[in-house]
Amino acid sequence: MKFATRLLHNGNEIDPETGAASIPLYQTSTFHQSDLDHPGSYDYGRSGNPTRHALEQTLAELEGGCRGFAFASGMAAISTVLLLFSEGDRLIVSEDLYGGTYRLLTKVLPRLGIRADFVDTTDLDRVEASIGPDTRGIYIETPSNPTLKVTDLRGVSRLAKDHGLLTLVDNTFLTPCLQRPLEWGADLVIHSATKFISGHSDVVSGAVVVREKELAEEIAFLQNTLGSILGVQDSWLTLRGLKTLNARMAAAEAAADRIARELGRIPEVRQVYYTGLEDHPGHRLQAAQADGHGAVLSFDLGSEEMSRKVLSRVQLPLVAVSLGAVESILSWPARMSHAAMPREERLNRGVTDGLLRLSVGLEDPGDLLEDLEGAIRGRRIVSAGMEGRASVL
Ligand SMILES: *Cc1c(COP(=O)(O)O)cnc(C)c1O
Repeated sequence: MKFATRLLHNGNEIDPETGAASIPLYQTSTFHQSDLDHPGSYDYGRSGNPTRHALEQTLAELEGGCRGFAFASGMAAISTVLLLFSEGDRLIVSEDLYGGTYRLLTKVLPRLGIRADFVDTTDLDRVEASIGPDTRGIYIETPSNPTLKVTDLRGVSRLAKDHGLLTLVDNTFLTPCLQRPLEWGADLVIHSATKFISGHSDVVSGAVVVREKELAEEIAFLQNTLGSILGVQDSWLTLRGLKTLNARMAAAEAAADRIARELGRIPEVRQVYYTGLEDHPGHRLQAAQADGHGAVLSFDLGSEEMSRKVLSRVQLPLVAVSLGAVESILSWPARMSHAAMPREERLNRGVTDGLLRLSVGLEDPGDLLEDLEGAIRGRRIVSAGMEGRASVL
């Protein structure tokens, strides 16, 4: 069956106890044990909960893994997973990395003796050259944030396997709807389910899906030990959001493609980053390893002044951190996600003061384009009903 069907019919969508078409909120912390010698599937809410379990099994099915885990946030998932490693271990990590993961790897894990080597993982030779005697894993984001560099999932997974390393992939930007890293040989997939998986800017959640049973048991042990679980209400909300993932992705991706092309025709826009554009350096690889290009694009306006102008003029997108929601979200990486990165390093990675990242939502793409173009070219178009919205910056 195709992804769109499996999203809704995967064996976890109906409550086995009652037949309810929406998995109930099992709002409980513990479970009565009527048979002391044969405890049921659940004993305590940190270790397992039926609502959370339905979400976890659905995610495992969609990513093609043996087991899924729902976490309190994307960062809770990442923190838990990285505690698979021990003092003295080193990780090779994509240099374009989500800011929170960068912070964890540079400020917290070194205290435990776990160190990261940041590498341009789009270059497999460099990845291989960086593997040392203490390297234990390769951690990648593809496409990366915010310039959407594409890493070869099969190539990296093969290298890792040859050297006995784990391959870990943050798949937040594309979701299993468009990219399934486990199929290319990765060992473990991570999500900020706050983004496209939930999709409605109403819940913070995270997920991990693991390919092999042995590693799944290690994650289960860590999650239960650390207590980094997703709550029952948020599990329900994430399951509810997930049901429309395919429809949301398809509409947002089509709009993103159109917007990327049209933005490229505006003289004030110096560069557009979107893997769907044929001249993006990762275009062909992306087309080969993913089923689409997603709904996130970035564009460079050349200066901080232009960024401020556009961010304060746009009427439709939220001006905010985050992405992957039904409403479009416009972010300023230099001042938001990458603010903590030293300026030189940030500029080297193309994250200039004029770069804006757009997560395309479900608005009419023509309206979005008109709003963006008006903001860029200095025409302030105030649509009906939007007059009262305060400028943010
Ligand atoms: C948002 C995000 C995270 C962190 O997830 P939270 O749910 O905010 O904790 C990790 N990776 C990527 C790529 C993200 O966009």
